Amino acid sequence: MADGNLPAALLVDLDDTILDAHRNPDEAWVSVCREFAGRLGAASPEDLHTAIIESRDWIWGDPERSRRARLNMTGTRRVIVRRALESLRLPYSAATEAMADRFTALRDQAIRPFPGAIDTLQRLNEAGIRLAVLSNGDGPTQRGKIERFALEGYFDHIQIEGEFGVGKPDERAFRNALAALGVEPEEAWMVGDNLQADIRGAQQVGIYAIWVDSAGAGLPEGTLVRPDRIIGALSDLIA
Ligand SMILES: [Mg+2]
Repeated sequence: MADGNLPAALLVDLDDTILDAHRNPDEAWVSVCREFAGRLGAASPEDLHTAIIESRDWIWGDPERSRRARLNMTGTRRVIVRRALESLRLPYSAATEAMADRFTALRDQAIRPFPGAIDTLQRLNEAGIRLAVLSNGDGPTQRGKIERFALEGYFDHIQIEGEFGVGKPDERAFRNALAALGVEPEEAWMVGDNLQADIRGAQQVGIYAIWVDSAGAGLPEGTLVRPDRIIGALSDLIA
């Protein structure tokens, strides 16, 4: 223990744990539907939005589809729009990809570190805790966010699904990160917002798992996952 309350090593998720990345995606879809409905020949922005949400939920509603989808987010957004247009019997055009890419740009612009998150990483470094970022997703996208917010220097190990080849909750992802930090499971904590990937994944290899519930909504009804601890923000670790 580097500190009475902290472990020797901490594995930290990136999106929606360090970076506020995915909240309110609907706002961006509503905005691009307003912008593109006319160009695409949709009856209304609302019709287009409904079709987009159905298409999106089809992609993310299946574990294997979503595993492949998150490894190419730009391509996935194009597929979401293309499928939505097919369901509305609208022809493919240059505006199809332009709409998807506009959504990607809006989402990228909206990404910010959570208040206090960077300061927390700094203080964990100062406390001598070994830090790894353990992120699912494709290499260029996740690496781009790490560079954009100058996060590299806080971590002893950076592990991205698209680069390593295996993502959370696969136990190989956790074991590799522990080995890179030179610690045993009982010396580490995992912090993340995803109950399956971050919490169940860490617990299956014996890592103490802390769930970030930034919405303050509590555990979803029916979940069988039981985090070892629940916090509202990364900064709660040192509060
Ligand atoms: Mg996350």
